[in-house]
Amino acid sequence: MIHVVGGGLAGSEITYQLASHGYEVVLHEMRPLSLTGVHKTDRFAELVCSNSLKSVDVKNASGLLKSELEKLESFILRVAKSHSIPGGKALVVDREAFSGEVTHVIESMTNVKVVREEVKSVPEDDDIWIIATGPATSSKLYSWIQKEFGSGAHFFDAVAPVLQSDTIDMSKVFFANRYQQGDDYLNCPMDKEEYISFREALINAQVLPVEGFDRKLLFSRCQPIEEIARSGEDSMRFGPLRPVGLSDSDGKKYYAVVQLRRDNSIGTLYNIVGFQTRLKWNEQDRVFRMIPGLEKSRIIRYGVMHANVYLEPYSTMDEFFKSRKKKNIFFTGQITGVEGYVESVASAIFVAINVIRAFNGKNHITLPSNTMIGALMAYIAHTPNLKPMYANFGILNRKDVGEIGNLEEFIS
Ligand SMILES: Cc1cc2nc3c(=O)[nH]c(=O)nc-3n(C[C@H](O)[C@H](O)[C@H](O)COP(=O)(O)OP(=O)(O)OC[C@H]3O[C@@H](n4cnc5c(N)ncnc54)[C@H](O)[C@@H]3O)c2cc1C
Repeated sequence: MIHVVGGGLAGSEITYQLASHGYEVVLHEMRPLSLTGVHKTDRFAELVCSNSLKSVDVKNASGLLKSELEKLESFILRVAKSHSIPGGKALVVDREAFSGEVTHVIESMTNVKVVREEVKSVPEDDDIWIIATGPATSSKLYSWIQKEFGSGAHFFDAVAPVLQSDTIDMSKVFFANRYQQGDDYLNCPMDKEEYISFREALINAQVLPVEGFDRKLLFSRCQPIEEIARSGEDSMRFGPLRPVGLSDSDGKKYYAVVQLRRDNSIGTLYNIVGFQTRLKWNEQDRVFRMIPGLEKSRIIRYGVMHANVYLEPYSTMDEFFKSRKKKNIFFTGQITGVEGYVESVASAIFVAINVIRAFNGKNHITLPSNTMIGALMAYIAHTPNLKPMYANFGILNRKDVGEIGNLEEFIS
């Protein structure tokens, strides 16, 4: 019997892959009985923050990884594409429709048994256990992992707020993508004075206390907006508020621009791009209403900050993401130290391939090192004192990129 612990992005992908190859899977998911600090629903593959799965351009590292996952027949990517909504060059999804379909498909699979329970430890048995409990692994299971494997680290990550679109003042904002490539994004333009007062308010706003919070443990790619603001007067203008390539219908350019991205297919919800935050909720209302067009906006999901846990993979698991100590336990998803939705899915496909091969009496394999998925998995497994890693052209030389094979090729 195979047990998957955690019905997030990685857990859903691996459950689907194993079940669709004929294996019986028990999927243990603790929601809704026990919620994490970031998930809000009982659905599988809930996107906890942005509804963007990043670029689809293969010249971009994330786009390349997605193109490889497509060849490897990723279930999550297929569902994401079928619920995509306009988002320029990014794969942006209607989050409710996306997680709704993932849940429906998994629950309909006859060889998947879904058990809604918190797994607090892995029993001593001969079953295969795949731990996919993600950055918000329950504290009891995380304590067991730390005790059992002597491993564990964390960093801090935050979520951006979502607004109700009929509360946006459309007379002050304009639709446009950067460099006139469509009009999927809503843009809230700021002049210099507005930008400076907004920054002042952000820096001085009250934040929610977060247990053990340490600025040094913030993830560099997902800094809260107030931390970006604090780091320098122009930092936001070179980050999420950068105005380059954006002009209104009269061709007018602005000092800074806040972008809003559609959150659902019917356009009733928008999220504020790059506005991860740990401001107190009443402060989010007060400060974000200083943004032109958002004076009367209503936030329906506030930003929050959360500690992200992960293993120290180098000492805990081998290059196939199998526990060094207990040969029937695998790890996958963000708990292994990959960072990001798509990267978590990639690690699930990698582990699925090796679990299926083992059941077929075959040796485990690594994936080609000249592919983004192969390079990322190798980086995770071989780097001592790993800091979480996402797809990028630092771990894979752009000039060396090779073609990934298809799923059946790796399994058989
Ligand atoms: C605050 C925050 C914001 C993030 N924002 C982004 C973003 O915008 N873009 C991006 O690409 N990535 C983001 N990430 C990173 C990450 O890619 C996602 O969290 C992603 O969902 C990880 O996938 P996963 O399957 O490993 O974990 P998850 O999707 O979190 O799934 C883990 C599942 O395990 C369940 N679970 C936990 N413990 C137990 C237990 N003991 N027993 C049973 N079930 C359990 C949880 O309920 C959950 O359903 C963010 C992470 C955090 C914490």
